[in-house]
Amino acid sequence: MLSKFDILDESISIFFRVEVGVKPVNHRYAWVLVWLGLGLQVSPSAWGQDAMDRLKPDWLRNMREARERFQRDRQPTSIDDKYREVRANLHVHSELSHDSRGKIDDIVAAAKRAGTEVLMFTEHPSKEKDFYLDGHQGMRDGVLLIPGAEMKGMLVYPTLSLRQYESSEPIDLARLVRSRGGHAFLSHLEERMDWEIPGLSGVEIYNTHADFKKQKRMVESMKNPLWLVKLAEQVKEYPQEVFSALQSYPSDYLARWDVLCQSAPHTGVAANDAHQNVGVRIRLENADSVAVEDPLGEVLLHLPRLLAATAIKIPKDAKVDDVLFSLQLDPYEYSLRHAGTHLLVEDLTRDAVWDALEQGRAFVAFDWLADAKGFRSQLVDRSKGETYPLGSQVAWRKELSWAAEAPLECQWRLIRNGVCIAEKSNFKFEEPLIEPGVYRIEAWLMVGEEKLPWVISNPIYVRGGDDGR
Ligand SMILES: [Zn+2]
Repeated sequence: MLSKFDILDESISIFFRVEVGVKPVNHRYAWVLVWLGLGLQVSPSAWGQDAMDRLKPDWLRNMREARERFQRDRQPTSIDDKYREVRANLHVHSELSHDSRGKIDDIVAAAKRAGTEVLMFTEHPSKEKDFYLDGHQGMRDGVLLIPGAEMKGMLVYPTLSLRQYESSEPIDLARLVRSRGGHAFLSHLEERMDWEIPGLSGVEIYNTHADFKKQKRMVESMKNPLWLVKLAEQVKEYPQEVFSALQSYPSDYLARWDVLCQSAPHTGVAANDAHQNVGVRIRLENADSVAVEDPLGEVLLHLPRLLAATAIKIPKDAKVDDVLFSLQLDPYEYSLRHAGTHLLVEDLTRDAVWDALEQGRAFVAFDWLADAKGFRSQLVDRSKGETYPLGSQVAWRKELSWAAEAPLECQWRLIRNGVCIAEKSNFKFEEPLIEPGVYRIEAWLMVGEEKLPWVISNPIYVRGGDDGR
């Protein structure tokens, strides 16, 4: 054993980095011990319910059955608001970003499988390409592509090249983009203090990457290729359930958003942060050793072939450069389906998408659990029979009711100024309003004993009353 360690210490450069924002960690000896079989457990127990607990076969199977049941139980909804509903993904990277190799045709094909009709790209700006001028745009195979960037902690969708403004302060950049008719959404609310930037289109109210970072045990485990090798069986059988096991209710985001909306309308959107860059690949690099690489092709460590063979099958006739094992945890299809922003548009054009985002005619949905298409919510004036879609600003009067409807029986939570004021369970929801405020609704689904957030609507702003709001 000791001599094995010595050889490894000399020959292995162990510097594993998960390309998803985790700080680089040096794992020299720990790694070798794990590889030698002292850490074979896929999911340690008794740490409380988190993604690691969910990655067990029981949870994955239950979720798969629930998803199939939700698909069977769907009923058509009846609220007709004249809008067309399209599903959008607003935080997507392609090969124009340094940390993705995603080809546009593959991303569009994945979007179609996930039920997405609008892809709004958020590339990391680079010297080689102008994300706006060279970015993906226009219709492609029925999917509308809109170029944008992740800049200064915002998702920006400009109407001009921002090449010469890349060093601007966030507040100036937001002002420029907005004054030229573009959109800017604040990203990663959990990381920043300067979240009150005037004039923004809105904010992310869910971010997959933020959820991922919360899963500390899973993040730790992912630094271990052996754990990933073990996880491969579950990923093969339950790819969507494994990906979506990280979902949680974004209470910190929502609390800040509720405060922001009381000062000015902010459209809430979901951020997928889709890169397709999380996973591991093991390649034979010469007769005696293998290279462990990330999906971008960066070598994370080298291992003796004999040692690697304790965990993966290496055929006798394997040739140099053969990929012996490969696991992709975040294929576009699954990250795009996980969460989406549904827009109520007049047409499938950029201008129509722009208008829905400006007006807040949108809701966020965790469609991985159940397709939220058909969900509708609006304000109704009972005396006049008038209706107001999500995002509306309406003068207070006592005849107003909040109405909602979903294709599945769900648990409704009506929220006013950040506080839940009514809870009901049914396909439909109706509640008379008794005072002005910023109202929004949530729909949750039950899977056994577990209650999972499904839809989070944008607000309707009911103005008036004594405080002038
Ligand atoms: Zn991103």
